[in-house]
Amino acid sequence: MKLKLSEDSSTIKLLLFFILVAYLFSLSMRYFWVAEFQGMPQFQWNNELMINTNDGYFFAEGARDIVAGHHQPNDLSPVNEPLSLLTAWLSQILPVSFETLILYMPSFFGALIVVPIILIGHAFGQARMGFVAALIAGVAHSYYNRTMTGYYDTDMLNIVLPLFGVYFIILAILHQRNRFLIPITLSFALYYWWYPSSYAINTAVLGTLLIYTALFDRTNRHLYKIALFVVIGILSLPVLAKIALALAVFAFFHYRPQLDQKWFWPLFGAVAALYFATGGIDPIWAQLQGYLLRESVSGDAAGLYFYNVAQTVREAGHIPFSVFAERISGHTLIFLLSTVGYILALIAYRPLLITLPLVGLGFIAMSAGLRFTIYAVAPMALGFSYLMFLITQPIGKRWLRAIALIVFTGSALYPNYLHIREYMTPTVFTAQEVTSLAKLGELSNEEDYVISWWDYGYPIRYYSDVKTLVDGGKHSGDVNYPASYVLTQPQQNAAFMARLAVEYTEKGYETNNSAVIAEMLKAYQADTMDDLMTALQLDPESLPKATRDVYLYLPFRMMEIIPTVTLFSYLDLKNPDNKLQQPFFYITGAIQDTGKTVELGNGLSILKEKSILKLGNQEVPIKHFYQVGYDQAQKLQINEQQFASEGLNVIILGSYGRLLVVDDFYLNSAYIQMFVFERFDPALFEPVLLDPMSKIYRLKV
Ligand code: MN
Repeated sequence: MKLKLSEDSSTIKLLLFFILVAYLFSLSMRYFWVAEFQGMPQFQWNNELMINTNDGYFFAEGARDIVAGHHQPNDLSPVNEPLSLLTAWLSQILPVSFETLILYMPSFFGALIVVPIILIGHAFGQARMGFVAALIAGVAHSYYNRTMTGYYDTDMLNIVLPLFGVYFIILAILHQRNRFLIPITLSFALYYWWYPSSYAINTAVLGTLLIYTALFDRTNRHLYKIALFVVIGILSLPVLAKIALALAVFAFFHYRPQLDQKWFWPLFGAVAALYFATGGIDPIWAQLQGYLLRESVSGDAAGLYFYNVAQTVREAGHIPFSVFAERISGHTLIFLLSTVGYILALIAYRPLLITLPLVGLGFIAMSAGLRFTIYAVAPMALGFSYLMFLITQPIGKRWLRAIALIVFTGSALYPNYLHIREYMTPTVFTAQEVTSLAKLGELSNEEDYVISWWDYGYPIRYYSDVKTLVDGGKHSGDVNYPASYVLTQPQQNAAFMARLAVEYTEKGYETNNSAVIAEMLKAYQADTMDDLMTALQLDPESLPKATRDVYLYLPFRMMEIIPTVTLFSYLDLKNPDNKLQQPFFYITGAIQDTGKTVELGNGLSILKEKSILKLGNQEVPIKHFYQVGYDQAQKLQINEQQFASEGLNVIILGSYGRLLVVDDFYLNSAYIQMFVFERFDPALFEPVLLDPMSKIYRLKV
């Protein structure tokens, strides 16, 4: 292989042309989603489409507060998050609205993946191979999903940055020049800053480089130099400190080459020691354990056992091979060809071995969950592209080979294109829901709390600028407990807990003690939550003084997940082995009237004549029967009949096209009473906004 260090201008022009075409291609494929939703007002807010990832509202809140220049203590606003900082900075220099900015940032940054891929191809003298791989990787199934328009999250650079790191390592291996060392440190330092979870993959790249050196070139000092600059990049130190260290070490090599011989290894040893002193591989073990060992309950220091959220997160499950393959390459066949091509490319271009950790992490997806597939996308695309150029090489006629290449490339792009055309993720919230949250924002103070389920924490904080107990990043069993309790208990208990949870949470920030439930129980000398509630009923004056307003946010979209919400507080705090029989809840949108029965699916049916519910072979009397819906004037109407003194309750939600079968636990829960029936205890709550999609109450105690 012939290597040139300086490029002639025609090469640079060709590279720029490849990058521009691939970038515009990736970008334009991210416009189908916009085109589909642009005419639909329910997906728009402030004259712009809303984002489609929940976590995005976390970074958006931080960016909003950075721009505003202030936020409240303990409001969990991420004003130091890199994505928030980048967004705030861009919003101040770009002439677009904040909504437009966060909507399109993922597309514009995510499509940058084409740059390092084309450059990696070029590093091996195969810019065309890089170009075709870039076309594929930019739109590949899982990479698209995580960088599509509106997917405002760190993913937009999570693959781009390590690919630059890998590119510079490959360049440094091929050319053995010091000039690539600083870019290596910069890439890894930037990546680690942007995404601290990258620590493990960065360390894996380092390990791969060291194994590569040991196997193929162990006497080559330059390879250890490369490793040294990778280590500096991934140290658990501030970015600027790492850059300073890298520059100092670089200057030493550059200006004192005669000392290099004597001082290289002591220097290497010192930086390696720094690596182990600032964390080493311990954080990786912790991370691995988090993925591999998922316990359903977790005990806290006070000996209380809560429900662990990990087992309700869908993403963390096993996935079938075809799904895995499609997510990486768009189609199982393309994936298999890519794998063969990748292996051949590793043989042909040995430094490409540095991409192995990315592939490895992508393949971990088979057991650890599909979120990891995006790491394998770029190396696999390079593999496919390599195989294609290899296979078409014997074709003598240039035009014939060009056609073959276009057909092959097209066949790899096509399944991904089909996926993009049908992958129409809705926005996180609808305009109707956001309207309610924006109104709540006007009514409330920034220090007020809104209690809801954690799924809605980030959007609530973004649109209403209030505080929340739980959100997409704060939802362990102990903090979910009070939120779950408020939503699923009767109103008296819910009101008490709402006030307790808010005041104890705020106090916990001051005393640095987040064991809120343990503190409550201790303060009331109660063994169980029931004891605590009894104590409060006897002496309501003992409730903490209200320091702020508290709101309950009850959206219709919570209806489907209410059994999951319940799990977090319907448990024995003292004994994890005491598995309580969960209360009964069934929801369906598909009912079928057969004349004598109404079929509800899943073996449930109503025997009309006897007013009895059949659950499989079991017959249960219908206790209450409700028909709830909005009339022409958008007024809530409730029809109620009682058939028995015991049994299950049937609620028909006509306006929502749903039917509920619930036991008395759910019927009496704050959520069902206050959302479905708008029945509230005026001594405890007052309605603030009663929209059909979301109902908001203010706590009066
Ligand atoms: Mn705030």
